[in-house]
This record gives sequence, structure tokens and C-alpha cells, in this order.
Amino acid sequence: MNDELGMRRRIRRRDFLDGIALTAGAALSSHLLGAFETEHIPETSPDYYPPVLTGLRGSHEGAFEVAHQVRDDKFWNQASTPADTSETCDLVVVGGGISGLAAAHFFRKAVGAKARILILDNHDDFGGHAKRNEFHQTGRMLLGYGGTFSIESPAPYSAVAKGLIRELGIDVEALQPALNRKLYGSQGMHPAVFFDKETFGADCLVPDPRRSVGGEEGQSTPGGDAWQEFMKSAPLTEAAKRDLRGIYETQTDYLPGLSSAEKKAKLARMSYARFLTDVAGADPQVVAYFQARPHPLFGLGIDAVSAQDAWGLGLPGFDGMKLEPGPGPGMNRDCIPNEEAEKYFFHFPDGNASIARLLVRKLIPHAIPGHSLKDLPTAKAHYARLDDGHSHVRIRLNSTVVRVAHEGDPQNAKQVEIVYVKGGKLFRVRAGQCVLACWNMMIPYICTELPARQRDALAKEAKVPIVYTNVVLRNWTSWKKLRVSSVYAPGGYHTHVNLDLTVDLGHYHSSRVPEEPIVVHMMRTPCKPGLPSYDQHRAGRSELFQTSFETFERNIRDQLSRILSSGGFDPARDIAAITVNRWPHGYAYEYNSLFDKFWLEGGEIPCEVARQPFGRLAIANADAGAYAYTDGAIDQAWRAIHELTA
Ligand SMILES: Cc1cc2nc3c(=O)[nH]c(=O)nc-3n(C[C@H](O)[C@H](O)[C@H](O)COP(=O)(O)OP(=O)(O)OC[C@H]3O[C@@H](n4cnc5c(N)ncnc54)[C@H](O)[C@@H]3O)c2cc1C
Repeated sequence: MNDELGMRRRIRRRDFLDGIALTAGAALSSHLLGAFETEHIPETSPDYYPPVLTGLRGSHEGAFEVAHQVRDDKFWNQASTPADTSETCDLVVVGGGISGLAAAHFFRKAVGAKARILILDNHDDFGGHAKRNEFHQTGRMLLGYGGTFSIESPAPYSAVAKGLIRELGIDVEALQPALNRKLYGSQGMHPAVFFDKETFGADCLVPDPRRSVGGEEGQSTPGGDAWQEFMKSAPLTEAAKRDLRGIYETQTDYLPGLSSAEKKAKLARMSYARFLTDVAGADPQVVAYFQARPHPLFGLGIDAVSAQDAWGLGLPGFDGMKLEPGPGPGMNRDCIPNEEAEKYFFHFPDGNASIARLLVRKLIPHAIPGHSLKDLPTAKAHYARLDDGHSHVRIRLNSTVVRVAHEGDPQNAKQVEIVYVKGGKLFRVRAGQCVLACWNMMIPYICTELPARQRDALAKEAKVPIVYTNVVLRNWTSWKKLRVSSVYAPGGYHTHVNLDLTVDLGHYHSSRVPEEPIVVHMMRTPCKPGLPSYDQHRAGRSELFQTSFETFERNIRDQLSRILSSGGFDPARDIAAITVNRWPHGYAYEYNSLFDKFWLEGGEIPCEVARQPFGRLAIANADAGAYAYTDGAIDQAWRAIHELTA
């Protein structure tokens, strides 16, 4: 079986050890030594280029061990005195994601271009979740997104966020012709559903009756032909098929006699799964069918998403319920439709890594050559220039911050001391001010001087685990033969699988004909249905940290083979490269009416308590707004800088 799947075939990931470049070497020493030695700076090597690393990426090995030691109280008892780098900055930013990079940009605007800024990040690449996956297949560059996919948001971008996007040279409207959302449809290819034998009794690929998902154009409600094909082939019981179609077509008011507001209040307190079975009386197979539909937004299935949110997301069953437009109390922000927000969409070939790259180009122009969006996709970042002593702004990678503390009484101190680990060694820098643009739940461990109430609130913002896998296929002829462009797999290891969204920008061109190589994107959220949301995420995080690349690889090969082999796909022959972007700490947690009482009934909002400024410290990052979007990360950066500089 291993041979058939191609487990022993040479693919590029085996040039690396679970995503760690051999040149990036420097294993963590258990004994933390002293002095800063240039030979321990892997980024200065000419071979250092993390975007091309394959295997396990995202939270890659080497990025999280120190942080986990600090969390587990196992760090300081073996740490030596930090070596002083003798650097004193105006601002240190902890975290080099879009929020941290935007904070550096806003700080310069506020205090001047000569401000000395140091950005520290624990990963081997900048951008946080905005990571670029770069592949080279038969002489051609193929780009994928390792995390954030697109400029989009359920609510309109604020004036601040729109302003920054414009300053970076991105004109969302003018860029629309670069996207081709009709390529696959024009070739007779459509979204499909894959039923797996473990969940539904048989492996079966069936056209998705909705025909429109994932940015491709089409119809969003099932039409007659689509239903006929679906009904003929789906391995569901007759009762389940009847109920499924019934849910889409029903005009029943399941809560008669209640006002719209009363209905919303009830729907906000029950899961969509319960709505389907207990209220609409649907067959349990209908629940299994819809189970993973909200995974891409919530990292949770319909057992943990409220029926009110399901209504907002456009899931079926509500047409006859006479619900007035507009959100009811407790509605998740992802589920509130907004026309203006829907139009503000753009996908770069490497996702929002392009936004991170544009920010870096603005902060350290010589690190990313070029001047326009056209030269951006193919521009190669010079990592050795990120942390250059001649630059006012420096980005120091592979650096985990372990302590942030005022020098003296926080209200009167003149400086903040920041201690970080790089290459197994401990270093200290000083700064006039510091922005914590890292993950909220890390802050209480590194900044123990914060008030206890704030530390508790920070600890509550634990993130949503999610995996974005990119697989390079030598061609997509099997997809074409099966007339499939994307797959929803409700019981699959990855629940969503799709061919890359076509975008041509500057010298970069997406795959256009089936004989060309392409990036296939696969998404997995390791949730545990039945548990409260926080517990599902905790269990998922733990699962991700324990899953080896080999397990991911076997599942990927097996899943693609089962979906596509009737179209001639051979995993051993057709897979050229695999990158698993594993994000145990993925989306910022967004509040959920089923589990967060304050969100439904009013009360203190944890992220607002958590993000209070403290002395010379301010808190940015998407968690600070409990909002998992780029505009949120930018808005929080702006607020944090405003707090420090107003
Ligand atoms: C898989 C995925 C897909 C997404 N898709 C989209 C999308 O399509 N559109 C969208 O708008 N948003 C999307 N998001 C949300 C995305 O998280 C935000 O848009 C935004 O990129 C978050 O930026 P940030 O700077 O707040 O956080 P991050 O990008 O997480 O950056 C924070 C950085 O701080 C670092 N850090 C943490 N602790 C320390 C420490 N102690 N020392 C040093 N560094 C530290 C982290 O490792 C990280 O690199 C997605 C997120 C994920 C995970």
C-alpha cells in the first residue's frame, strides 16, 4: 500500500528534515549560553530561503519549543544571564505578522522615518500566518499560500485598514481582472462532494448540487440537473436524500408564533446540528453531510455553530422562517452578510504573504527588490538584509521573546527590556516602547508584570487550530477528466480540497491547461465534535503537535487517490511536492453564542480587557480584536501605536 501511494518516492520535502532547512541548523541547546556570535545567524547564509521549504511548515520545528518551555515553567531554571546586544531601539515589536509589521509602519509614520525599530519573530520567515509557499516545478514557479488566503472580511475594511492597503499600492477594484474565476467552469469543471466509506459506507465523488464554492462563479442554490445527478449517485439513504433536498427547498416556518427576534434568540442558543434533527426533523445523515461546511470559517463543525450563524452563512432550512435581515444578538461577525465587504476581495498568488512582503518592502526597501505589484510575486526576498545594522528597521527571525519587562516601576520607567532566544542563546535588547503583536495567550507568560485580570483575559484568547496543505501535482488532467474543480469531503481528513484560484500578476502566471503543474490546496481543522468550542480547539492543537509529517503525507496521498483515481490520478506518479502548513495556533478565536455567554447576553468582552496598554507596552495582533482577519490585525496595530504615541 505504501508503494502504491508513493510513500517512498523522492519528493522535494525529503531534502529537508520536517521543514527545517539544513542550513538553518542551529538546534536548540538545552543549556542557554551567552554571547552573540555571527556564525549562529542562519539568515545570513546565501542558501537561506524559507519559502521553498517543504514538509511540515507553519508552526515548524524550532519555532515553538522555547515558548512551550516557558509555558510549562521549564525554561528559566536552565537559562543563563542574557547577553546584552547593546541595542537600544525606539520600538521593539514582538511578532512579525501583518499586525507587527503594520505596527512598525504606523510607528514610523507617527514619530518619523529615523525611528529605530526591531521586530522579533520566532519563525524562520516573516509574515506570521501570512506565509508564502514557493515551488519550482519543471522550471516554473508555482506559488501557494501557507496561511492567510485573501483580502476579505465579513465587515468592510476600516478607513485605517483601507488606507494602509492603498499605501501599499493595492487597488482592490483595479486588480479584479488579474483573477480568473471562470477558468474551471469554462472547461466544464465544477465543485463536487466526496463521500467517504468510513462515514457514508462507500467512497463516491458526486457533483455538488450547489455548484458554487471557493471563489469560482456559478449558482449558489441547487438547480434541477444538479439535484438529479446528486440524488442518483450520493451514497445516502433514501430518507436522507429526501430530507436533504427538503431542507434546501422547504418553506416551513419551524418556529411558528414567534417574532423574528424571538426566533433569532432561540436559534442563537441551539447548534445547527440540533436545528436540523430536533427542529426540522432531518435524518442524521443530513447532519453528517453538513458537518464540515463551517470548518473553513470557524474551525468547528455544525455541532458547535449556532443555527442563527448557520442562517447568516446561507446554510439551508430558514427560507420559510420569515427572519428579518440583520443580525440578532450573539451573531458571529463572520456570519453577518455585508454587500460592501463582499466586493472587497483580492487573492495574490501567495495569498496575503504579498501584504507582508509589501510591508517589509516599505520598512526595509533593499530586502525585497522591486517597486510595483507587478514585480512582487516573483521578487526574491533577501533574508540577510532583514537584520541589517545600517537599516533603521530590522527584522530578526528565529527569535522567541521570553521576557518583556519595564526597567523599574512601569508607570515611570524610561525603558523596556526585551529578552529573546535565538540559536539556543539568550539575548537582551532595550527599547523606549514595545508592541506585543504576538499571540495573546503567550503574553501572560512573557510579561508577568501585567495585572492578573489582564493576564487571565489574555490567556482566554487561545487560537483555532487549522492546517493548510499545499500539494504540487505534475498536472491536473484527472480533475479535468472528472469535471471537478474543488471537493467538499465532509468525512475526510482534509474537508476541503481545491485547485488553485487562477491569478495572473506581472510575470507570474497560474496554471491554465490541465497538462501543466498546479498547486492543490487542502484544508483540515482538527476539531472534536461534541465538545465545547474551547475544548475542541485545545484537543485539535494537541493533535497537530503530535502528528508526524509521515502521517500527514499518507493521509494526503490516500485521500487524493480515493477522490481522483477514477480520473487516472496516481499519487505515486503525480505528486511532486507537499507542504503541510500546520497552525495549532491559527485563527484568532471569534466569540460564539453557544459558548460565550457575554457575547449573547452582554458583559465584559475578554479581548477588550486583554488589550489594555500598560506603561510603555501596547498590545496589537488579531487576537486583540477577537477577529481573524487582516483588517483586524491592521486596526489593532494602529490602535496600539496610537496608544503609545498619542
Ligand atoms: C490558515 C489561516 C488562514 C487565514 N486566512 C485569512 C484570510 O484569507 N484573510 C484574512 O484576512 N485573514 C486570514 N487569516 C487570519 C490571519 O491570522 C490574520 O489575517 C492576520 O494575518 C493575523 O496577523 P497577526 O500579526 O495578528 O498574527 P500572526 O500572523 O499570527 O503573527 C503573530 C506573530 O507573532 C509571533 N510570536 C508569537 N509569540 C512570539 C514570541 N514570544 N516571540 C516572537 N514572536 C512571537 C507568531 O509566531 C507570529 O509569527 C488566516 C489565518 C490562518 C491561520
